[in-house]
Amino acid sequence: MDLWITLYDIFFNLHLLLNPIISGFLIIMMKKEIFLTLAIAGLGTLFTAAQVRPARSLNTIDEKVNALLAKMTLEEKVGQMTNLTLDAISKTDNSGKIIEPHEIDEQKLKERILKYHIGSFQNVAGHTYSREHWYEIISAIQQMAMQDRLKIPALYGIDAIHGVTYTIGSTLFPHEIAMAATFNPQLAYKEGEISAYETRASYIPWNFSPVLDVAKIQVWPRIYETFGEDPYLVKTMGAAIIKGYQGNNVGDKYHVTSTMKHFLGYGDPLSGKDRTPAWIPDRYMREYFLPPFIEAVKSGARTLMVNSSEINGVPVHASKYLLTDVLRKELKFDGIVISDWMDVRYLHIRHHVAATEKDAVALAVNAGIDMCIVPYDYTFYDYLIESVHEGKVPMSRINESVRRILHVKYELGLFDRPVGNPVEYPKFGSEEFKAVSYKAASEAITLLKNDNNLLPLKKNTRILVTGPTANTMRSLDGGWSYTWQGDQDDRYAADKNTILKALQQKAGKENVEYEPGSTFDSLQNINAAVEAAKRSDVVVLCLGESSYTENVGNIDDLNLPPAQIELASQMAKTGKPVILVLAEGRPRIITPIASLSAATVMCYISGNEGANALADILFGDVNPSGKLPFTYPRAANALVNYYRKNIENGNSDDSHGYNPLYEFGYGLSYTTFRYSNLRLDKTTFKDSEDLNISVDITNTGSREGKESVLLYTSELYASITPDTKRLRAFDKISLQPGETRTVKFKINSVAISFINDESLRVTEPGEFKVQIGDQTQNFNYRISIPFHAATDGKL
Ligand code: BGC
Repeated sequence: MDLWITLYDIFFNLHLLLNPIISGFLIIMMKKEIFLTLAIAGLGTLFTAAQVRPARSLNTIDEKVNALLAKMTLEEKVGQMTNLTLDAISKTDNSGKIIEPHEIDEQKLKERILKYHIGSFQNVAGHTYSREHWYEIISAIQQMAMQDRLKIPALYGIDAIHGVTYTIGSTLFPHEIAMAATFNPQLAYKEGEISAYETRASYIPWNFSPVLDVAKIQVWPRIYETFGEDPYLVKTMGAAIIKGYQGNNVGDKYHVTSTMKHFLGYGDPLSGKDRTPAWIPDRYMREYFLPPFIEAVKSGARTLMVNSSEINGVPVHASKYLLTDVLRKELKFDGIVISDWMDVRYLHIRHHVAATEKDAVALAVNAGIDMCIVPYDYTFYDYLIESVHEGKVPMSRINESVRRILHVKYELGLFDRPVGNPVEYPKFGSEEFKAVSYKAASEAITLLKNDNNLLPLKKNTRILVTGPTANTMRSLDGGWSYTWQGDQDDRYAADKNTILKALQQKAGKENVEYEPGSTFDSLQNINAAVEAAKRSDVVVLCLGESSYTENVGNIDDLNLPPAQIELASQMAKTGKPVILVLAEGRPRIITPIASLSAATVMCYISGNEGANALADILFGDVNPSGKLPFTYPRAANALVNYYRKNIENGNSDDSHGYNPLYEFGYGLSYTTFRYSNLRLDKTTFKDSEDLNISVDITNTGSREGKESVLLYTSELYASITPDTKRLRAFDKISLQPGETRTVKFKINSVAISFINDESLRVTEPGEFKVQIGDQTQNFNYRISIPFHAATDGKL
């Protein structure tokens, strides 16, 4: 390995001298002054490690890709379209189990690459690995790839969805749902940047993140992986993290390509269970689910992963309409479309839309899949080759996919630098990075209730810490942490603070008692907890969820389990003030105990620094500023999003389905803010104009605080029932006590558009209401041409 590093260093430094960077952008002007900027040309190199060819004749990536493609056999092309999991090249014991410690199986690797020309790998085989081991894995793969006829480097992908999930010592951030609660896109950008750095420090250039699904149904187990229920929030935070991941140059040693996922409509399964059918009319799809993907394509995301589920009876992996007509023709996405895990096969064995697995392969590739996460065998490879020979998949489809795959490999700089240089990542897992994760957690945690200003706590308050989420990292890091299910969080994050440890550090061990009181679903030594509560000044009651990922997190009931409710009741009966702390990935129903707590704090799944941030909030060193990125339902059968429809008399529907415990965007502070003086620069604005809106915010309390200022609009009457209100812009500011700041927003006709009954995006003339805090004003929108389509198209 040392020799390899030395050779690599020499080689890499040589490249620095020889490697001119060529980049370009194509700006496509759309009608009606909408500009769509697609970064389509990435890095070009004249000298490549992988190929010996006259450099001068091949200047652009397109030229290089075409030259390479011309040399490839069908088998080599299909190999590029095949993605296998690390398990498939790992050593196993006699029973087929991956051995620990993990080792690459040279024989398997040789066969996968030299015989089948497999071009892409992903994931982990079991536990999380050290950077050194990742170096060995990626080096072994790339060295083997360099022995193949065309020396095409492999593309390795991983789910680094809140930091580098599978590398020991990485910086784990709050999950997306908590990042959304910060309402601070700069933090999402920073997270993206740091995660990209640490992913490259793990020698991996491809991140299966961000999740851009709009979380419509609060019971869905993947809520915590999303930026919440609002399309504007999802699209804004999504674009920010993508820019952080990819930087200005996705091919440099500190950036990675992002993966927009899961295209499309994944966040609205009818049953609330993962990967179960959704029924989503086209209009609705374009209104709520498509915008984050449109924005992500504009932001330069280079790869996309497909929704495993079915919509209107059509599995998305078989939907030519979504994968080709919408994605390629409308959104003009020219990067790689990768299937989700085993989903091509599932077209046959799960969805029953293909009579054989071979039919499934042809169906998916013809629909628009470029690369398939198979992930264990050669079925996709064999069936695709046969399908091409039988004329079921045209060669043009294969070339199209391989062209995209090679293009991204060039953009990522893999031909120059198949493996990174270990010494170039001194900041991996650094205090500097940790501080950003802490800041994110401290801006995410959301104060939902604070009767009589119980919080912040005074020094020397005697605390009982109790409840199942009090002393486990599983409730702070959640799934996708060290392992897929996050079930080893306590082992790999043993040096991090659980809520209990953070409070002990903060308040002094002598002031903190701990009694679990219950597990997630059964009481445990409850009498001891009750006695301890009596001895304390306050009870910090930590409820919520353990870690889970995907279908493992399916639940039949959004209510918190009865044992946790009982623990809360017993604590309240002691008469001691209860601070309810929720560490959970989705809003579990707390209504039966909501009135029992004096204060309620939502932690979400706030990452390795979450407990430190919480302790600082509880003791007042940090003033909370998070706001809910989802509607917190009052009851398990009352799952409505804030942008519901008017039901009663056109304006009020509280008794008709929307009566949440806490509304989207709700969150308190230790200070108070007054909103005043909402001003519009005109009461009527026209299609080509901007509407300038401003509002004054004053910190009327006695301490500094941050406030997320959310701007909503509502259309009073429209050709289809308008949503009661929609988030159109937001900003986060910090104010000293007594300080007043004017926050300015600018919106245009596109911002207030919607998808009409013909599936077209339009802005209809009429009266609108704008709302910021408790301030409202009305304005009119007029058009110069009747029935103006805001973007002249379906987007
Ligand atoms: C998940 C994806 C993930 C993929 C690879 C799938 O089960 O749905 O989000 O990227 O696995 O790990």
